[in-house]
Amino acid sequence: GTVILGGGSGFIGTALGNLLRRHGYNIITVSRMPGPNRMSWIELMKNGIPDSCKAVINLAGQNILDPKQRWTPGFKQNVYSSRINTTQWLAEAIDKASAKPEVFITVSGVGYYKPSETEVYNEHSPGGDFDYLSKLCTDWEAAAKLGHSADVRQVTIRSGVVLGRQGGMIQNLYWPFYFGVGGPIGCGKQFLPWIHVHDIARQFLFALQNNKVNGVLNGVAPQICTNGEFSKAFGQAMWRPWFLPMPEFVINFVFGGERGMIMTKGQNVVPKRVLEYGFEYIYPDIKSATENLAKMIVVE
Ligand code: NDP
Repeated sequence: GTVILGGGSGFIGTALGNLLRRHGYNIITVSRMPGPNRMSWIELMKNGIPDSCKAVINLAGQNILDPKQRWTPGFKQNVYSSRINTTQWLAEAIDKASAKPEVFITVSGVGYYKPSETEVYNEHSPGGDFDYLSKLCTDWEAAAKLGHSADVRQVTIRSGVVLGRQGGMIQNLYWPFYFGVGGPIGCGKQFLPWIHVHDIARQFLFALQNNKVNGVLNGVAPQICTNGEFSKAFGQAMWRPWFLPMPEFVINFVFGGERGMIMTKGQNVVPKRVLEYGFEYIYPDIKSATENLAKMIVVE
């Protein structure tokens, strides 16, 4: 079957596209850039989704942690609209389609839950209403709600920090660690709700293929770690020191406090529902994940 993949050109989207192709799916990426097997967002709005489409997935979104971008109102607007609008456009295309896909899967973030060193969050925990990022998650999840497609199954994966060599946090940290100046951020005691990129891609496939799966799934590994524990595991896997802390004020200076929080604060999130459904992780613990991430050559 055909899968429509918004943001299929990105870090997670590339890993997911490759996984889906290996499982025999045909991928059409929705992108701002034209290319083979792609459609633009304008084409999507004009022509809708093809009849034979099995699933619609959205992974589009302006990179929040781009250090070249200042945290200005204009950039925040891009961060917001690149997620909410693309999700809404796909939802509208599904609502309008005469032949519906089986499932609509979208992504959101664990920023939905309030950072804390004591609370433990599952999918039923409250959140989504206390700061910019949590409200972004609420609006993002709301944008995915289908109006009149009752037969289309819906899944939202609230993703933790995705660890992979081709993007996200590891792309920013690999060379500092390589040169021996890696280390925890701030005190290192904040939780780091993480997941390996192969496992998050597999969660999307799992959600696509299992027709019992619906609603919100926390996209995190079953073994939570702190930022300090992550630094130690990554440093050891790279055979490098891991103890040079990155002061919190440097992060706040580069990223701005509101988004620096993604790194300086954290939340203890458990993937309760996906475990109940029987999903199995390839990288359940930070040691196995960082050993894989430290390899010089990686295949996404
Ligand atoms: P990427 O930064 O790799 O970007 C994904 C894609 O979004 C890009 O390839 C691009 O596609 C599209 N995009 C970028 N900017 C815009 C824009 N202004 N308007 C429309 N489309 C845009 O993201 P990831 O793969 O890392 O993440 C995918 C999604 O998952 C994001 O929404 C992200 O917030 C979410 N997520 C990611 C986490 C992580 O750790 N990586 C953690 C939690 C959530 P193109 O250029 O083809 O248009």
